Amino acid sequence: MKAKVLGIFFFLIFINLVILGFKIIQLDRGVEKFVDPLAPAQSTKEIPKTNSALPKIAIVLDDVGVKTPLNNVLLAIPYKLNIAIIPGLNDSKTLLKEYLLRPNFEMLLHMPMDKVSHSDNQESREYAYTGKYPYIITTAQHKNQMIKTLDKAFSSVDGYGALKGINNHYGSSVTASANMMLVISKWAKSHGMYVLDSLSTPHSIAYEVAKKRKIKAIYNEIFLDNINSEEYILGQLSKAQRLAERNGHVVAIANANSELTLKVLITEMPRIISENFEFVFVSELIE
Ligand SMILES: [Zn+2]
Repeated sequence: MKAKVLGIFFFLIFINLVILGFKIIQLDRGVEKFVDPLAPAQSTKEIPKTNSALPKIAIVLDDVGVKTPLNNVLLAIPYKLNIAIIPGLNDSKTLLKEYLLRPNFEMLLHMPMDKVSHSDNQESREYAYTGKYPYIITTAQHKNQMIKTLDKAFSSVDGYGALKGINNHYGSSVTASANMMLVISKWAKSHGMYVLDSLSTPHSIAYEVAKKRKIKAIYNEIFLDNINSEEYILGQLSKAQRLAERNGHVVAIANANSELTLKVLITEMPRIISENFEFVFVSELIE
């Protein structure tokens, strides 16, 4: 009898232990659910670096900073893209965070620079300085002012060491100045960033200045959509393919805010891949 009571007692303890075990497992699963899906994952590292001998195309989409329905279209592109963010616009920081979660996006600082030449009249110069960009490099700035502007622009968007490179938004009079480009290149180097010369004018020496100082640099070879026509964009894309075949790689710039451009990219990128080209990050072409 005594043994029977003891048996029931131990059986009940056993059952309780089993129930407790299940509860602990469930708790564990509950904890898993609390991993913040929006935490900046720096997931760019998940995509392996390219090793292949295929001709490489780095597409840079410029002028991001204001949220529009097109941002979701951009997010739906599964291929490697380089996204250049203008600092200080309404949604620059939010968009950088959103795009950072995509392992197939590399982020750049798209720095507005003075686009007026010295021969232009005072009125147009004033316009450039007081224009719509909170952070802009102008030819009126001295070295320290330039560095301060770059620092402020950088910290206004980048909380995670996410920006891999810098390229110029306009900037004809800045990118033609060796002194100014030297300041910008050195600043980029100190922040672990490469310099991409957008080559918005043929007088730009951004690439040469950086290269001379052994600072990581590359230049744009082709604008894909400076004319808003499907036929034109298709033509520029096949020119980019020919350049990549000839030189091994090409950097091509387009506008992230053009619905037509995104539409063409969505249909053409898979076709270009099927023709044995590879889309890459700009950083992969420099290292
Ligand atoms: Zn731009």
